[in-house]
Amino acid sequence: MKDQLRQKFVEKYNQNPSAIYFAPGRVNLIGEHIDYNGGLVMPCAITAGTWLLLAPNNENVIRFSSINFEEETTIQIQKSYQKVGSAWYNYPIGVFNELQELDWLSGGLDLLYFGNIPIGSGLSSSASIEVLTAYALNDYFNLNQDKLELVKLSKRVENNFIGVNSGIMDQFAVAFGEADKALVLNCDSLKYKVVDCNLGEYVLAIINTNKARKLEESKYNERFGECKEALAALQQEININNLCELTAEKFALHSHLIDNDIILKRATHVVKENDRVHLAAKALSNGELEVFGKLMYASHQSLKELYEVSGDELDAVVDFCATYEHVIGARMTGAGFGGCAIALLKKGYEEDFAKRLTDSYVKAIGYPAAIYIHQIGDGVRKLVD
Ligand code: ADP
Ligand code: MG
Repeated sequence: MKDQLRQKFVEKYNQNPSAIYFAPGRVNLIGEHIDYNGGLVMPCAITAGTWLLLAPNNENVIRFSSINFEEETTIQIQKSYQKVGSAWYNYPIGVFNELQELDWLSGGLDLLYFGNIPIGSGLSSSASIEVLTAYALNDYFNLNQDKLELVKLSKRVENNFIGVNSGIMDQFAVAFGEADKALVLNCDSLKYKVVDCNLGEYVLAIINTNKARKLEESKYNERFGECKEALAALQQEININNLCELTAEKFALHSHLIDNDIILKRATHVVKENDRVHLAAKALSNGELEVFGKLMYASHQSLKELYEVSGDELDAVVDFCATYEHVIGARMTGAGFGGCAIALLKKGYEEDFAKRLTDSYVKAIGYPAAIYIHQIGDGVRKLVD
């Protein structure tokens, strides 16, 4: 891969790249829609991701191109940068904007990106390109920012420059992921631990529903508001800052304060999903994959019925998995309404699974899903020969 990319860089910029960096995509194993409720999430980085090749130029401009997109741009080095419509290069330009105060760039820079994560499918290609750019600039120009600061500034790019109101999980997983490990991250304190994710006889199958996630943003903000409403109702009686400070038992003692059924359903999902992450972390540490798989199904059920962020496509995938004897757990991953699901699939059945899932999915939905098998990989890094 690196050689092909190097060749592309030379063709594009007439010079060799000086450095190559890689940042992964991510999946969230369990703990969905609770990052913004101060909950625990369990993401891991995957072996697919985004590459960045760069080299200085002496023309006082920054050039951005991506093998995944035809559009390219050349911009002057400036004190601050503006968003340009909905172009892909807003993501890296947003990172330059965040780093502007450091006043580090003289000369100019040629940048070439390539990603092998499906873009816009919930595997966080956006966090991947943000963290990749921040990490590469920090490393190449010795900016002395620690990794957590790079995570936070990448989140600011997503929230303020791009305008997506997402939590910190994605950037965190892309930066801190480790091969064959899952992160158990408290999204409130940002404390995390790394747990072994030894899948033994199983692989992590990622199933892309190929459904565009149109509803995602407005529904995301709606759920965000509903959770705030639930919190405000509970705060009449108990002193909490986040829904996820409650266990299911404690929540049951106070849930009568929430008089709207929909808000009650949303809060019930949040509190129980957070409990499931505790159980899932324990199951994974003990190598109890079947327990872990059951928690995945329970998570999906709750996202479907209580939180109402699934959809026909994601349900078709998970329903098929439940009938397929070599899968022990499956759920939607990411914000929902489309995007990807994940499944724990017995090794050796990859082809059979893909074929039978495709048949069943096409029958239900009318077009095929895409199935990928990726390993759990390391976080952002410089690639050396
Ligand atoms: P997701 O993060 O689920 O993949 P988003 O819609 O949040 O989907 O982010 C996708 C956007 O990120 C793309 O439309 C593009 O602007 C940017 N992006 C991601 N990967 C690349 C890449 N390899 N090259 C250029 N832009 C990319
Ligand atoms: Mg994204």
